[in-house]
Amino acid sequence: MCGIVAYVGGRPAAPLLVEGLRRLEYRGYDSAGLGVIQGGKIATRKCAGRIDALAARLAEYPVSGTVGISHTRWATHGPPTDANSHPHFDASGRIAVVHNGVIENCAELKRLLEGRGHAFASETDTEALARLIGEFYTEAGEKGEAAFLIALRAALRRVVGAYGLAVLCADCPDTVFGARRGSPLVVGLGRGEHFLASDVNAVVAHTRDVIYLGDGDLVALRADGFEAARLDEREAKIEVHRIEHDAGAAEKGEFAHFMLKEIFEQPQTLRNALRGRFNTEDATSVLGGLNMTAHELRRVDRIQMAACGTSWHAGLLGGMWIEEFARIPCEVDYASEFRYRNPPLGSGTLFVAITQSGETADTLAALREAKRKGARALGICNVVGSSIAREADGGIYLHAGPEVGVASTKAFTSQVVVLALLALHLGRLHHLSALEGARLLRELEAMPGKIERVLARSEEIRRIAARYKDAASFLFLGRRFNHPVALEGALKLKEISYIHAEGYPAAEMKHGPIALVDEKTPSVFLCPRDGMYEKILSNLEEVRARRGPVIAVATEGDDDLAKKADAVIEIPEAPDPLVPLLGNVALQLLAYHTAVALGRDVDRPRNLAKSVTVE
Ligand code: GLU
Repeated sequence: MCGIVAYVGGRPAAPLLVEGLRRLEYRGYDSAGLGVIQGGKIATRKCAGRIDALAARLAEYPVSGTVGISHTRWATHGPPTDANSHPHFDASGRIAVVHNGVIENCAELKRLLEGRGHAFASETDTEALARLIGEFYTEAGEKGEAAFLIALRAALRRVVGAYGLAVLCADCPDTVFGARRGSPLVVGLGRGEHFLASDVNAVVAHTRDVIYLGDGDLVALRADGFEAARLDEREAKIEVHRIEHDAGAAEKGEFAHFMLKEIFEQPQTLRNALRGRFNTEDATSVLGGLNMTAHELRRVDRIQMAACGTSWHAGLLGGMWIEEFARIPCEVDYASEFRYRNPPLGSGTLFVAITQSGETADTLAALREAKRKGARALGICNVVGSSIAREADGGIYLHAGPEVGVASTKAFTSQVVVLALLALHLGRLHHLSALEGARLLRELEAMPGKIERVLARSEEIRRIAARYKDAASFLFLGRRFNHPVALEGALKLKEISYIHAEGYPAAEMKHGPIALVDEKTPSVFLCPRDGMYEKILSNLEEVRARRGPVIAVATEGDDDLAKKADAVIEIPEAPDPLVPLLGNVALQLLAYHTAVALGRDVDRPRNLAKSVTVE
């Protein structure tokens, strides 16, 4: 979850590290720190708070040196305090570690170390690892890189859990060590310099040539070269990738927030997700990365999806389309539950993992579990070269560009569009007619333009948000295809505004949540003129009868509805399965403007982090 940036080369490390951390701040932001080799020792600066706090400390107490490691933390063990900030050190103070992930057997390791006289300076799991490496290194009795690598390996063999690590040893002043299991790490290849980071965004300003480390990889980076090995002694698979986007893609430009920028990018990111994927002649989609023949796809008799958070909502919608267009039964699980649920998976099951980052720990574990049971596994993700992209048998990339806002927006819309393409593809191999297929393609092509029309209403939506921003609670209600969007709308609002919100199937509301309805609790109804229109209108009346304020997301020109609702957000007409995409953009803007009106930190909401790499 956190951000790691490390540097070795000819330039002063500290400014490069701080700049890299700023680009990764969305990954974790409760404390920050760095360690730099200075005069044969490791100088460290670290503190609770944002990167600015670290930068201020560095301005007051500068460090110099050209080899260093740094970290922004998302606390798992111990609160965000100065002492718990990374790096953490071994007993000698000559080994420093920054860590992304969780050491699951840290209690056992701590007991063992305490038995050997260690007194811990922090509450973190990471410190146990740092001290363990130190123990093995001291025990070896030798100094230098070869001895250190042996100690690092020995310590990592004792560790249960997930880690991405950058490590310094003062006896190897020209080297940054890295290792990963479960948490991502990427090496940036520069000229006479190397970077190590948890995300390409930290290095793309300096180099576009990167190596995504695999699970179990170890690296030793120096200014003029590097060595890679594996914990299990097999040969490391090193492939250099070229990053497509430039540093500007992860900057907010003229927008007030990354989230707003990403909301407004959606017409373009949808075009990117659709580009090259239409086969108009056969009225189907082209998905080369599936790595499955038509014959194999026809034999799929069940689909099992697993995802977390917003991606789970995308899965719910995609699952409905697959059932609708391809008539294949589809189940969508929370990845965190799926991995322990032990559902039967036959050889005809196709498993689909959905994740923006491709690193979500629960989704990755779910994918591994499904593969172990013999299912064919696809990954739908945004980050090229990510763990899920590498481990899945095939997949579909979103091509949405870097998503920095912690609350996912453009990745969600791209996920659902890509799932629509998958549903179409499967549909055309089963029951869907050429005419229906062609219609869906036309409608998908029209979506970016229609989204632009929703975006044009941003100011209207801002005024509605200003009216309701002080509500303590919101309900989001939709039916059928709009139900997942009601869930997503509620999630978006609570993530960034901290207002309690619940998403519900509108008719189900009578069985409980209607007890919450009063004059102060707005209900957001997704009620475009679709097949469920009449039905949801009755639900809307039930809320009005109890004096609940109603915000309606309605089809343009629906004057009847305008008379019934207290506020209306209009969206263009679209066929039933696709109209949720438009309602969703309206709800993204509603959440955004509400959070801004409340003065929230929209891009870095409290307690959250992008790319959830812990279980
Ligand atoms: N588990 C470590 C800690 O709590 C690392 C957390 C992170 O990934 O930032 O400090």
